[in-house]
Amino acid sequence: MNNFYPEQYKKTGHYPINHNYLPEQFSDFESIWEKVKQVVIAGDFTLGQSVDQFEADFSKLNHGKYGIGVGSGTDALFLTLKALGVGNGDEVITTPFTFFATIGAIVTAGATPVFVDICDDHNINAELIESAITTKTKVIMPVHWAGVPCDMEKINHIAQKHNLFVVADACHAISSRYRNQGMAALCDVACFSMHPLKNLNVWGDGGVIVTNNSAVAEKLYSIRNHGLMNRDYCQEWAYNSRLDTIQAVVAQHLLDNKIEHITEKRIENALRFDKLLKQIPQVKLPKRDPEKKSVYHLYMATFEQRDELQNFLNNKGVDAKVHYPVPMHLQPAAQPYGYQVGDFPKAEFLANNCLSLPVHEFISSEQIAYVVECIQEFYAK
Ligand SMILES: *Cc1c(COP(=O)(O)O)cnc(C)c1O
Repeated sequence: MNNFYPEQYKKTGHYPINHNYLPEQFSDFESIWEKVKQVVIAGDFTLGQSVDQFEADFSKLNHGKYGIGVGSGTDALFLTLKALGVGNGDEVITTPFTFFATIGAIVTAGATPVFVDICDDHNINAELIESAITTKTKVIMPVHWAGVPCDMEKINHIAQKHNLFVVADACHAISSRYRNQGMAALCDVACFSMHPLKNLNVWGDGGVIVTNNSAVAEKLYSIRNHGLMNRDYCQEWAYNSRLDTIQAVVAQHLLDNKIEHITEKRIENALRFDKLLKQIPQVKLPKRDPEKKSVYHLYMATFEQRDELQNFLNNKGVDAKVHYPVPMHLQPAAQPYGYQVGDFPKAEFLANNCLSLPVHEFISSEQIAYVVECIQEFYAK
């Protein structure tokens, strides 16, 4: 019970069209093994050369100057809030339609999450942010959901006007672009995850913080590593959340050999889905903006009779999933904030009607056509 993941993988493992593609993703693991061997031989287990190199290359990919490798995407968000001085009594404005980690990071940093509803691209509605700002607001935390960049121009404008930080949860958005700019170029700090099911994935947990702010970067390099100035002096009591050196080797391998293909293939698959699903009136695609390049971490849309359709697809061997059925403001953990059903109707509608279809690089065009045929068959009944 303490570890529910094996159960989860067993349940989804048998679908021919699966969300889980990890064995294929790492079919060339022997060549990664060789690189890991060098780390073992050198005994370079803590930070070290592999982490330095990866931080430099990953931050370049996402258009930031400084990369700080940390233990996970959640740690990236948490440590960033700490580095910005966010704590007790502060408020962070974000979306209720996200993964638990966004809110977990805000709350464990000591702050209070303040939600505003989403808009038709499934991301935070920038038009609603200003009315949620109070004297306690310190940070706006947009989440680039599914890899779709948020309306960063509007969000940055509001942040500037009210003197707030913008910390992006870019965990889904590795190499996404908004008007050709990477996610780190569009905010104070962008936080990325390399969880096994993210677009650039490692053999366990890993995260990267990317920023163009040298002072914030310096603070983060220190607080992920006990707040050390050097071996013998500590400038501030802090944490141990370093990107594992072995994970940096795995991540570098993907960065050098695969991320471009992964990204292009996901986009190609998504466009194929878009084209076919547009013709089904019971399906509603999120608003697509040509100025935004999504990397389709998820391929999500809303579908009439969602639960029945999900069941139908599962029975046809298609691993359609719900990411996620309960928005953050309605979670048991959110009870202290006093939100109610109806507070964020768009997020609630999405939670009740969304379905994600497998879109990863190992899905073929024939499989996409098959998934769409199944959906057509379901609605023709
Ligand atoms: C995965 C994810 C995180 C957290 O990443 P971990 O590396 O699993 O800690 C944060 N936010 C979002 C939106 C995510 O999907």
